[in-house]
Amino acid sequence: MLYNKLQRVRSLLREASRRTENFRKKVSLSCVPGCYSCCLKKDLYASPLEFFPLAYDLCREGNGEKAYCKSGSIGKTSPCMFFSPFNKPGGCTRYNDRGLICRLFGFSSNADKNGCPRLICCRNIKKTQAFCNLTDKDISGSPEFSDFYIRLESIDFALANEQLQINLAINKALEVILNYESLHMHRIPA
Ligand code: SF4
Ligand code: SF4
Repeated sequence: MLYNKLQRVRSLLREASRRTENFRKKVSLSCVPGCYSCCLKKDLYASPLEFFPLAYDLCREGNGEKAYCKSGSIGKTSPCMFFSPFNKPGGCTRYNDRGLICRLFGFSSNADKNGCPRLICCRNIKKTQAFCNLTDKDISGSPEFSDFYIRLESIDFALANEQLQINLAINKALEVILNYESLHMHRIPA
């Protein structure tokens, strides 16, 4: 059951990356070089479920309990525990396992109250020429933010709907995986 959820989350994360990357390239949009302001926000919120693959991989590497203690102790007092300004690309030390919000922010959209597509992005991207050149038709071709979260909910409604500060979301994901591991009295398989 847990592995099935894990595989479905991984697949959704991969699709989010592929589709945001395709959109980004098509409209020549990109992050501002050297910027990683979104990873530095202490009030960045995410769901535990989108960090299942990260939590699972940490446990498989034998670092689950250490990461669980750290994420719980720093909690809301710090930006994401996996951010390091020296790491490339984007300062994320777990880039391949990053969450759904990390993949969608900047390069996905939702409809506004008038039904017009609006890119979900930061002020830095909004200042770029590529952003100014975007038409509604261009933005309509971007991945739909809410669609990805609805699909995440379909995997596990409770764990997808709980919005926690990012370190606490990672902490909750680790708690679920570690509990599973101890309940089954064995290390989780690679
Ligand atoms: S999304 Fe915006 S704030 Fe985040 S790294 Fe890109 S340019 Fe910077
Ligand atoms: S997981 Fe990586 S990309 Fe996501 S907030 Fe943390 S450092 Fe940034």
